[in-house]
Amino acid sequence: MKKIGIVYGGKSAEHEVSLMTAKAVIAALDFSKYVVTPIYITLDGEWVCGETLQAPVEDAESLRFAGTGQKDSIEQFVTLASNKTSRFDVVFPVLHGPNGEDGTIQGLFEMMNLPYVGNGVLASSAGMDKVVMKQLFHQAGLKQVPYLYSIHSQYEGNKAAFLDACEQELTYPLFVKPANLGSSVGITKAKNRAELEKAIDFAFTYDRKIVVEQGIVAREIELSVLGNDEPTVSIAGEVLPTKDFYDYSAKYVDGTTNYAIPAEISEAELHDLQQAAIAAFKILDGSGLVRADFFLTDSGEVYINEVNTLPGFTPISMYPKLWIASGKTYSQVVEELIQLGLERFEEKQ
Ligand code: ADP
Ligand code: MG
Ligand code: MG
Repeated sequence: MKKIGIVYGGKSAEHEVSLMTAKAVIAALDFSKYVVTPIYITLDGEWVCGETLQAPVEDAESLRFAGTGQKDSIEQFVTLASNKTSRFDVVFPVLHGPNGEDGTIQGLFEMMNLPYVGNGVLASSAGMDKVVMKQLFHQAGLKQVPYLYSIHSQYEGNKAAFLDACEQELTYPLFVKPANLGSSVGITKAKNRAELEKAIDFAFTYDRKIVVEQGIVAREIELSVLGNDEPTVSIAGEVLPTKDFYDYSAKYVDGTTNYAIPAEISEAELHDLQQAAIAAFKILDGSGLVRADFFLTDSGEVYINEVNTLPGFTPISMYPKLWIASGKTYSQVVEELIQLGLERFEEKQ
């Protein structure tokens, strides 16, 4: 029997999503093979370890444990994971956004010498920072929309200069984004200078670094990558937002978004997208999984938008659904990810 810790919740906008993912991942585990410990991070950042589970849980709410209210305390986890007999053979972080997807929790696992599922510190942090990610994609020869970025202190020093540069080098509409976030939080589409200024101020409330991108009229296509040094790539899926863009509420609240799996694209387009998804994974030095998100224009041009190093992973999320459509089961994907995490750990030893 292997001891596995499922880490979920977190101080993030995607806390609730993470709970649903944890329930699904736990249900996918073979209980004759794993001793499963749920590890809940409260909205205050306290790590609460539950009793080992005897069976999958009925509903996600039962995974929401009450802590002692000690903000940002990780003592319970560190104690459990440091103890020789209770130590985990592997941990599976199912968290999204800052602190879960950005390399910080991965750094903690590295420090504790714990094998874990998914991307390492470098790929996670590079994948979370949209500017660093774009610079790497550029180096890999991947096509992207034109963009500019700014740091808060520089921007405050000369707002007009940055706004002028945006207007000179880019064409409205523009998308303004905090550099380090996800789930479309803090993102606004700006159609003129006044909106741009407002959008920049808004994005700066989330991050000290922001990106301004030229808007593109294109389809949004996503692919799943799975593996370590020899990654495999799925078929493509299309996101079909029914509103202006794929914003936070379209993703999680109003359920207005439709998905097409497989995406209706040509063989040649699929080939280009798959090549680009693998190239993106490799330039980041990814491990385990990545969902690569693209813009596909009517003339068949592929622009990479971003990668997500811990993409949505409920059974109805794009990442597993693309694999399910490629012939795997959800449980198989979970098991493969665990094995990939263990393999990567053993290679390092
Ligand atoms: P996040 O990491 O928060 O998902 P994205 O960069 O993927 O941020 O942006 C969220 C959504 O905003 C995209 O899925 C897309 O609908 C829209 N969007 C972002 N950038 C552009 C762009 N340059 N042109 C057109 N739409 C965009
Ligand atoms: Mg993202
Ligand atoms: Mg996105």
